[in-house]
Amino acid sequence: MFTVAIIGRPNVGKSTLFNRLVGKKLALVDDRPGVTRDRREGEARLGDLTFKIIDTAGLEEGDAASLPGRMRAQTEMAIEHADAIFFLFDSRTGLTPDDRVFANLVRRAGKPLILIANKAEGRAGEAGAVEGYDLGLGEPTPLSAEHGDGFASLYAALREAL
Ligand code: GDP
Ligand code: MG
Repeated sequence: MFTVAIIGRPNVGKSTLFNRLVGKKLALVDDRPGVTRDRREGEARLGDLTFKIIDTAGLEEGDAASLPGRMRAQTEMAIEHADAIFFLFDSRTGLTPDDRVFANLVRRAGKPLILIANKAEGRAGEAGAVEGYDLGLGEPTPLSAEHGDGFASLYAALREAL
């Protein structure tokens, strides 16, 4: 089974995507102290694909300029364990300095990456999704993790990236 890590700054919808992909088969919550405390792992289903998925959680919100150390460590650990990355940004708020910090982390990893423009439901989201090209991580895949839109495109993008 391959592993996908969900990466992105706080509030872009990582946990919402995790919950939707894992459905009711929510797996273990990692209670070990330290950087792994808020890392959740589960078994994801997407079409005919089954894979391990890692949700990374922001422990501290922090200011834009300095990504809090624990969050960075947690993100780097998740990336290290992953065979592919779902990198999320928020189509509604547009790109922030934090998005670029996280983008640089995943860029360095050099792993298969799917750039996800989340919260892309409706017109505001569609317009915002195109802004994702500016991260230099390839073509954004518009998604609405909350409403369940765009999962066929996510499947196609994942298949292509692997
Ligand atoms: P995380 O911090 O990246 O894990 O983000 P969460 O999954 O906790 O979501 C942050 C907020 O964004 C919550 O209020 C969600 O309901 C909302 N959200 C998540 N996905 C979507 C989406 O597809 N569309 C909209 N409009 N809101 C969303
Ligand atoms: Mg979360």
